[in-house]
Amino acid sequence: MYKVERNRCDCHPETCGCNPWKIVDENGERHSTHMDKSVADSTVAIMNSREVKPSLVGTVLALSREADKYHNHRTIDDILAHGVGEMRETMDEVDIVMGRAPGPAGVDGVVGESIDTILCMLDLIYKTDPSITEEEIVAIAEMKGAKWIRQIKAKAEDPGPPWDV
Ligand SMILES: [Mg+2]
Repeated sequence: MYKVERNRCDCHPETCGCNPWKIVDENGERHSTHMDKSVADSTVAIMNSREVKPSLVGTVLALSREADKYHNHRTIDDILAHGVGEMRETMDEVDIVMGRAPGPAGVDGVVGESIDTILCMLDLIYKTDPSITEEEIVAIAEMKGAKWIRQIKAKAEDPGPPWDV
């Protein structure tokens, strides 16, 4: 089980940039540090609620259930609007990476903004069907993934006439 502790350091107090809270594992090893104790506490609650190996879907479902304790009034429309905003931020980061827009890249970058988008979409799934399980979501993803791979394979085996490639 993970827990939150004070993050003690040996830095000079006036120049120290260390976060005041840390999450440690059962061996006392530091997992991460946080500025805000409530964020660290929520993170630990999510990490400790996972029953199996960490997975993205399981993590977000736990996060959505945790969010319901504090922000239960969010609607599907709210989540969708937020997700569209995160997709926009992802597009902006991609434009910077591809040289279509001036930098610098944001702190979150393409990876962080994509994760923000995924969080919103999985929360949307959860809010649409709060009883859905990680296994059910993964099964749908596998089914859709299989269809995608089948299409790619068919295209690779028969690319069609040259003007269609
Ligand atoms: Mg974002």
